[in-house]
Amino acid sequence: MITVRELYTCKREYKLTIGNLYMHSSKHNFSVTYTDITTAATRLVGIAHRTPVLTSSQANKKAGAHIFFKCENFQRVGAFKFRGAYNALSCFDENQKRRGAIAFSAGNHAQAMTLAGQLLGISVTIVMPEDAPSQKIAATKGYGAEVILYNRYTESREAIAAELVNERGLTLIPPFDHRDVIAGQGTTVTELIEEIGLLDYLFVPIGGGGLIAGAAIAAAYLSPECKVIGVEPELGNDAQQSLRSGKIVTIPVPKTIADGAQTQRIGELTFPIIQACVRDIVTVSDDQLREQIRFFAERMKIIAEPTGCLAAAAVMNKVIDVTNKRVGVVSGGNMDLSQLLSYK
Ligand SMILES: *Cc1c(COP(=O)(O)O)cnc(C)c1O
Repeated sequence: MITVRELYTCKREYKLTIGNLYMHSSKHNFSVTYTDITTAATRLVGIAHRTPVLTSSQANKKAGAHIFFKCENFQRVGAFKFRGAYNALSCFDENQKRRGAIAFSAGNHAQAMTLAGQLLGISVTIVMPEDAPSQKIAATKGYGAEVILYNRYTESREAIAAELVNERGLTLIPPFDHRDVIAGQGTTVTELIEEIGLLDYLFVPIGGGGLIAGAAIAAAYLSPECKVIGVEPELGNDAQQSLRSGKIVTIPVPKTIADGAQTQRIGELTFPIIQACVRDIVTVSDDQLREQIRFFAERMKIIAEPTGCLAAAAVMNKVIDVTNKRVGVVSGGNMDLSQLLSYK
């Protein structure tokens, strides 16, 4: 018979072996290591919220599993993007700090960069489409960012940002394909597993793959037998196509209510991590997302944007059989009230 202590030691050694494999093997020589994630976690202590992990007997019953929702809608600025943005700006040297940062985004990354810049005393410039919701533009300015508007039909935000990088020496922080951003996002899952223990499955939404890359490295180290599953909108399944064909696939801007997953291709840094550490990528329909938004709001009092409902929708609709398994789900994001009220 094996004692509990021996079992623990055995599990621990297994964990360390797999962790080392992922961290040091030349085959998996990733841009981001588990140590980068724990370093990011240290930087975020007392700054990012340690978001709650919620459970629901209704959700468990529907999926036939034990589900743990990591609720990043309660993160600062309403999304896990704050973790990556703050970590990236914390890594700036003196010269970079003096000159400031730039990002292009109309969504959560812009708000995250703006707040992180304010907290760290680093000036942040955001390149936004001029037809972005006016309250979003006002909020970004209100937090102290310099906002540069562009016409999304006639101008290229990349070109505008590149010009500012050249002229003013700003440092561009992209929303997902950056090692400090990936490491920061990974802290979502170190917190989850530290709090609730080993998982059988972990479901994570995919836009450009920054969150899932960090999440998968964290899971490989802390819960090595956990199968990490990415979730995309049905019509925006570029990462699924990429994983299945073995090379990055670019798609036209997908039509979906999950606007945070309207990316046309996943990142150069995130893709190899996904290939090595993610078991599969599945999809859900916009109708399943609407149903999930309702379930979250009615049953769990969670207000999460469509992209932040992707992972939960896959589990609740049993896209993969998780019967009796321990399942982690990353949820969250920002939903404005008029948008919420339109999902009747
Ligand atoms: C950005 C974002 C995603 C997608 O994250 P990636 O790192 O781009 O894959 C998912 N959900 C929410 C709420 C987001 O803000």
